[in-house]
Formats: sequence, C-alpha cells, structure tokens
Amino acid sequence: MRWRQTFMAEVFESLHQLGLGACPICGSAESLNISPFPVVLIDGDFSPEAEALTSGDARGDLTFAVRVECGTCGHLMLFTPRGSAAETKRSLRDGFATN
Ligand SMILES: [Zn+2]
Repeated sequence: MRWRQTFMAEVFESLHQLGLGACPICGSAESLNISPFPVVLIDGDFSPEAEALTSGDARGDLTFAVRVECGTCGHLMLFTPRGSAAETKRSLRDGFATN
C-alpha cells in the first residue's frame, strides 16, 4: 500500500504553499523527502492482526498520515490528508478496505 504519485505531488505543492518548502529546523531546502508509504496511526482498541485494521471490527480511529522527513537533520513531520475517509482511500494504491 502506498500513496498515489498524483497525491504525493499535491502534498508537495501544498507544503510549498504552506511555506514548508524547507526544513523548519535546519532550513535545508533540498532534503525534505515525502515517503511513498502511509504511516498508520491507531487510536483505539485494535487487534494486532492486519485484517482487523480493514475489517471494520476495530473500535477507534485509524489515520493514514503522510510522512515527511528531513534527510539532513532527521526532523520528522506527519500530515493527514484533508477530506473524508473515501478521499483518503482514493489517495492510496493497492490496499485499504476495498469493500
Ligand atoms: Zn532539517
């Protein structure tokens, strides 16, 4: 499961619009990397099995976040896609509750 290329390009553009074209810690403009893989944040009571994450049995919130890391100083930032769960699903490829 990974972010779609078009979505990553939108995130990159949004970061620049927000003034985050450079690392807020070390100021490096070239070393911010967006991970192609989502970070899954679990806030609730979930079974450790992967199926439980997408089966609808879980009680709580499941968040897919975008990971942006500075390759120079290691500063890590997480951003959550705006919009509904359905929009987040459209931003992902190969996974995440296909029903
Ligand atoms: Zn940095």
